[in-house]
Amino acid sequence: MALVNCPNCSKKISSLAKSCDHCHIELSDMDTEQRLNMKRMKKIEQSQKLMNQSMVAMLLFCAGIGSMFWGEPEPGSMQYNLATGAGVIGFVWYLVNRVRMIILKRK
Ligand SMILES: [Zn+2]
Repeated sequence: MALVNCPNCSKKISSLAKSCDHCHIELSDMDTEQRLNMKRMKKIEQSQKLMNQSMVAMLLFCAGIGSMFWGEPEPGSMQYNLATGAGVIGFVWYLVNRVRMIILKRK
C-alpha cells in the first residue's frame, strides 16, 4: 500500500482506496490514464484561476495608479486613500498570484 495524491483534491490517500476520504470522488472506476488526465485538467483550471486573479489585481493596481495620476486627489482625502489602497493591494495581490503560479508550475 502506498500513499498517492488524490487527482481531484490533491490530498494524500491510499493507492488502494476506492474513493477519496476528503472529497469523496469515486476512484475505483478510473484507470491511471484517467487519473493523470484529471490531475492535468485540475492544474490547468488552477492556473487559469490564478491568471484571472492576477488580471483583476493588475486592473486594481492600474485603477489605483490611474486615479492618483489623473484624479490628483488631495493627500489625506478619501479618494487619495482609496487610490493608494487599491494600488498597494493590487500590487501585492499580483505578486502573490505570480508566486503561486510559479509554485504550481514546479509541482
Ligand atoms: Zn480527493
